[in-house]
Amino acid sequence: MVQDYHEFLAEVLISEEQLQHRIHELGEEISNDYKDEDQLLLVCILRGGVMFLTDLMRSIRHPHAIEFMAVSSYGVGRRETSGQTRITLDLNTDIQDKNVILVEDIIDSGFTLASVLEMLSLRKPRSLSVCTLLDKAERREVYVPLKYVGFTISNKFVFGYGLDIDDYYRNLPFVGVVDLARYKP
Ligand code: 5GP
Repeated sequence: MVQDYHEFLAEVLISEEQLQHRIHELGEEISNDYKDEDQLLLVCILRGGVMFLTDLMRSIRHPHAIEFMAVSSYGVGRRETSGQTRITLDLNTDIQDKNVILVEDIIDSGFTLASVLEMLSLRKPRSLSVCTLLDKAERREVYVPLKYVGFTISNKFVFGYGLDIDDYYRNLPFVGVVDLARYKP
């Protein structure tokens, strides 16, 4: 049986209302920034970014297309990433001359994002920027340019709103903090 999240929820870090409010603001900001641009493409990094993408795109008034990609990072542990990133699901679109916004759930060390940015910039997009819902800024090990940030959070393991714990709990409408002592894998 998959454990009921109430058993290990330490706190609701960002409520559904706070998420929706901030995502609406981000949508407005992106709509303004790209109002004179053609060819806006949101690229969602699976799977954590899915919830964020679907809410964000409803808040963007400017016409845009969406695409998905998935990457895997070889890490030292389940919750750490090392810096070796491989594309496991590639884009179906040529991004040359497009204005690409990468939509991410959370940036931790930055290794995954740095590799993705390097790989995508080789494809010559007109512009390439990043929109992340969460930023664990104090954990950064490699510089990554973040144009849009929903919330800067401290170094706690979070779940919900697209973020998983061992593949579950992505469906929750809020971002919660895990009490690892009470979580039973
Ligand atoms: P980075 O390469 O920046 O260290 O790792 C980013 C990835 O690590 C995210 O896309 C996410 O999959 C995972 N990650 C980092 N912190 C958390 C967290 O607090 N909760 C969850 N569920 N995933 C996290």
